[in-house]
Amino acid sequence: MSIQPIRTYGDPVLKTLATDVVEIDSKIAKLVADMIETMYEAPGVGLAAPQVGVEKRLFVYDIGDGPLAILNPRITESDGEWVYEEGCLSVPGLYFEIVRPAKVLLEGIDLYGNEVSIEASELLGRVFQHEVDHLDGILLLERLDEAQLKAAKKELRKRAMEAGA
Ligand code: ZN
Repeated sequence: MSIQPIRTYGDPVLKTLATDVVEIDSKIAKLVADMIETMYEAPGVGLAAPQVGVEKRLFVYDIGDGPLAILNPRITESDGEWVYEEGCLSVPGLYFEIVRPAKVLLEGIDLYGNEVSIEASELLGRVFQHEVDHLDGILLLERLDEAQLKAAKKELRKRAMEAGA
């Protein structure tokens, strides 16, 4: 297992549409193990494959009940509204109050090829929506309102200048 560098805002891989996992082979198993290690090291509660530069539809998460990987996930139902201060390992150090559905139904397959269907609310529901967004090339910045986005862009520009970019 090895920790992978996490891609950050501006990296084109974060804007690509990831493709389905067709075969769960040893490469996928190693990717999942690396992603779990990388997520813990960060630390974070979720990590999607594009964040480590792999354009595959899978993510890992752990909100305190142990790590799990979901392959080819899709949100098939959503309900309600919930405001939560959301962050992203690819946009480090920035947090935004974002409104998203409070409850979702996530369907996909696990690392063993079994179909899974998970009803998730609050934090878990938020993690699922955030990670599925990553697989569609969507960063949380795209979920901000105009004022939030303006402030975020200003901060990101400032950081880029400080980094000498
Ligand atoms: Zn993220």
